[in-house]
Amino acid sequence: MTRSSIALITGSTSGIGLAIADGLASNGCSVMLNGLGSPEQIDAARAQVARHGGEVDYNGADLARPEQVEAMIADAERRFGRIDILINNAGIQHTARVEAFAAERWDAVLAINLSASFHAIRCALPGMQARGHGRIVNIASVHGLVASAEKSAYVAAKHGIIGLTKVVALENAKADITCNAVCPGWVLTPLVQKQIDARAQREGIDNARAERELLAEKQPSLRFTRPEDIARAVAFLCGPGAGNMTGTTLTLDGGWTAQ
Ligand code: NAD
Repeated sequence: MTRSSIALITGSTSGIGLAIADGLASNGCSVMLNGLGSPEQIDAARAQVARHGGEVDYNGADLARPEQVEAMIADAERRFGRIDILINNAGIQHTARVEAFAAERWDAVLAINLSASFHAIRCALPGMQARGHGRIVNIASVHGLVASAEKSAYVAAKHGIIGLTKVVALENAKADITCNAVCPGWVLTPLVQKQIDARAQREGIDNARAERELLAEKQPSLRFTRPEDIARAVAFLCGPGAGNMTGTTLTLDGGWTAQ
């Protein structure tokens, strides 16, 4: 990463992706944002990231649609001339036991959390290979390393993205193109807030107690990892200190997977 690097961050209208966009922009990158949201939310995300001074643009690709992923990569390359840094961050969650898991929810989780990353990498790699440089970071999860009940599609997709990370790393190891995954534990974002709300409702408890219980069940630090912690990890992986780090995972989980 240099002060003129170009970064594309999927799912950067909210949560971890927005923090990553902020972090990369504060390191001097120009960024292409992507994600769903109201026009107001998208404008707010653009304005927030733009205050760091670099150029900011937005592509509204629906990542469940491979042709829109392809068009997003082409749009970023046309707009900025190249993509130096690709962050595959967008993700959704759905919880149900396997026998009750709706097939269309399985398809949606796999499409957005796994296949979209494959398509983005597939389309961004030729440009990176032509220039002999690139940084790819996939936002996986502790659920790429261990499982939790009722998250079959999410766990399968996140295990899959770690496998994909390793293959991309091996295929590009001789070039200055690295591919790594970040594995957060609980981070308080809209994706997790929905799970806290569901727990509070299910157990008839208040939100603060649902939050404490959620952490106590899995995350020994009893603290949420902050979106800006993930952003710093990503900046490290895109920076000079990680030039020979590829095909691996960086875990920020308050001890979750040490148990
Ligand atoms: P979030 O819900 O705040 O953000 C998700 C982003 O993905 C949003 O910008 C949303 O618009 C975008 N998105 C969803 N579906 C999309 C689609 N079809 N097309 C384009 N964009 C789409 O969630 P978050 O917690 O910030 O999650 C970001 C990533 O971090 C996800 O991959 C998630 O699995 C991973 N993660 C989160 C946690 C956590 O505790 N929050 C833990 C581990 C991993």
